[in-house]
Amino acid sequence: MEGLKKIQSALESHRQQAFLAAPRLRLVAVSKQQPLQKIEAILAQGHRYFGENRVQEAEARWPSLKTRYPDARLHLIGPLQTNKAKQALALFDVIETLDRLRLAQALAEEMARSGRRLPCYVQINTGEEPQKSGILPSQADAFIRYCKETLHLPVEGLMCIPPVGDHPAPHFALLRQVAQRHGLPELSMGMSADWRTAVRMGATEIRIGRALFGER
Ligand SMILES: *Cc1c(COP(=O)(O)O)cnc(C)c1O
Repeated sequence: MEGLKKIQSALESHRQQAFLAAPRLRLVAVSKQQPLQKIEAILAQGHRYFGENRVQEAEARWPSLKTRYPDARLHLIGPLQTNKAKQALALFDVIETLDRLRLAQALAEEMARSGRRLPCYVQINTGEEPQKSGILPSQADAFIRYCKETLHLPVEGLMCIPPVGDHPAPHFALLRQVAQRHGLPELSMGMSADWRTAVRMGATEIRIGRALFGER
């Protein structure tokens, strides 16, 4: 477990040295399964971007944290069940796991109903792993177009989780290419183990859990 400041400055120095690096880089502190005191400690240091992977777990603590830290921003980084779309839209600020047609339709309906439109990232299954969620690379272009043009979803970026054991670079490169084709500004890629590569390849957002909070 390293300190917030240490991680922020390591991210920034990597960003400044990298040829393809994005002009800005956001650290999303992944607080899933972490004790409340550790989350509060990070909030107290001024950090405001957090990631949770389960709607129910986030529901249990973030509404009260958000009343105390109204400018905290919560990213959903885990799979979203269609029947929890309404709950997720009420609690989160960014949906990073738009990964299938039915969910896209449910989110579009709920955004229209509630008037609360959240930035969405399309999750791409860059490694084409059967057990992993995400749109297959071969279907990404059609899916992104459908979400933007037909459903009018505010798609602002892409997210991926490279296969364990693969070198992450080709996966990040693929994500970047798809984002560029569609003019999507946000690239959420890189975690505790592979953030250096992600920063070098143009990530705009790094999702870090264990390196910041310690093991889960
Ligand atoms: C848990 C998780 C992370 C953080 O992983 P660490 O290895 O703890 O940094 C990042 N992204 C997603 C989608 C996750 O589920």
